[in-house]
Amino acid sequence: MPSYEYACRDCKKDFTVYLSIREFEVKPNIKCPYCESNNITRKFSGFFAKTSKKS
Ligand SMILES: [Zn+2]
Repeated sequence: MPSYEYACRDCKKDFTVYLSIREFEVKPNIKCPYCESNNITRKFSGFFAKTSKKS
């Protein structure tokens, strides 16, 4: 099952979500497991991804 990495913008923690492709396509309501915020951002695991934004 593919895993998707997210970072929470509220508590600044990273977490990994395991979803099937199908589940991912329907865009489930993913929340931060630490603070239950949905203010999260997807992290791309890096082959191509250079970080284009500085934060
Ligand atoms: Zn959080």
